[in-house]
Amino acid sequence: MMIASLRDLADKAKCPRLVVKVGSALLVDRDGPRRAWIEALVEEIAAARARGQEVIVVSSGAIALGARTLKLEKGGRGSLADAQAAAAVGQIALSGLWAELLGKHGLTAAQLLLTLEDLEDRRRYLNATATLTRLLDAGAVPVVNENDSVATQEIRFGDNDRLAARVAQASRSSAVLLLSDVDGLYDRNPKDPAARLLPEVHGVTAEIHAMADSGSASGLGSGGMTSKLQAAEIAERAGIALVIGNGTHRSPIARVVEQGVGTLFLPRRKAAARKAWLGGRLRLKGTLTVDEGAAKALLRGSSLLAAGIVSVEGAFHRGDAVAIRDKLGNTLAHGLAEYEAGECTRLIGRHSREHEALLGYAPRSAIVHRDQMVVL
Ligand code: GLU
Repeated sequence: MMIASLRDLADKAKCPRLVVKVGSALLVDRDGPRRAWIEALVEEIAAARARGQEVIVVSSGAIALGARTLKLEKGGRGSLADAQAAAAVGQIALSGLWAELLGKHGLTAAQLLLTLEDLEDRRRYLNATATLTRLLDAGAVPVVNENDSVATQEIRFGDNDRLAARVAQASRSSAVLLLSDVDGLYDRNPKDPAARLLPEVHGVTAEIHAMADSGSASGLGSGGMTSKLQAAEIAERAGIALVIGNGTHRSPIARVVEQGVGTLFLPRRKAAARKAWLGGRLRLKGTLTVDEGAAKALLRGSSLLAAGIVSVEGAFHRGDAVAIRDKLGNTLAHGLAEYEAGECTRLIGRHSREHEALLGYAPRSAIVHRDQMVVL
């Protein structure tokens, strides 16, 4: 049973497992944590649990909270070092608050701090899946954030929107609800009086991207609409529904579900779990550009052969994830390379039977095998 409307978010059969992502501006203001609002949200989470749904919280706010305590300028986002220090301080208070407020409803909070690499590396991703599953089975409410204190620029999500989508995928959740400070996706800048809220999106197309206005309104979080759409892309590929809803109201889940205010990104056909993980990978080690013939063959489901490659970029090893692009720069697929970058370069345009003469060995006939590839 797939989610087809905002109401379905509260339906135990259609949405047995829900990820709720809460943005920084909702959790923290100038005076510290917005306790009364969080209390009301926790009541809604407890109600979902009482209906028989499992809930995972992805909570931002560590940087904003810690910056306040340490008196750092720009909300702790002036430099990476500030953000790391702020998160280290803020995270303690944040987890403590969730544990206390969930505890009042008899619910046990479980803290998970993840880095991008934890979800990009297949083995670590499966570990995260196992931990989340075990916690949910044991009745806990996982409260997840990025491990900002150790994540450096190149290896961080930087926004909890995409983290939430990846967590939903790792936990095999049915839906992600991104609570932020807007009602959803508008067809143009929401400040424009003619702007219209889109109730449903069937596929995040180039047209949908053009509607998004990048940059977060509050200045406290780092999300903005762009990262929400990237999250929607990860979710739709994994067969997970994603909703953007306004959290600035009291009891925001009810507002989305009962009043139907929000944007629902419908899941696409469910890709096999491993392929969805591959398609959602954010860190690719290189790019293979292919000619028209190879591009067509890929879309028909063939493996990528060296004969169709026109250029190789990046420093990747065998088994690393790479992007496959056409000559115009459109990304066609993600896949795991069967050869390292230098070998790929030497094989450009060559037939598979020449591989052995060129390299001295030829373990694979394809550069990216179709079983290790997901067409986007
Ligand atoms: N992980 C960041 C924090 O806890 C929030 C990232 C975001 O703004 O989405 O402060």
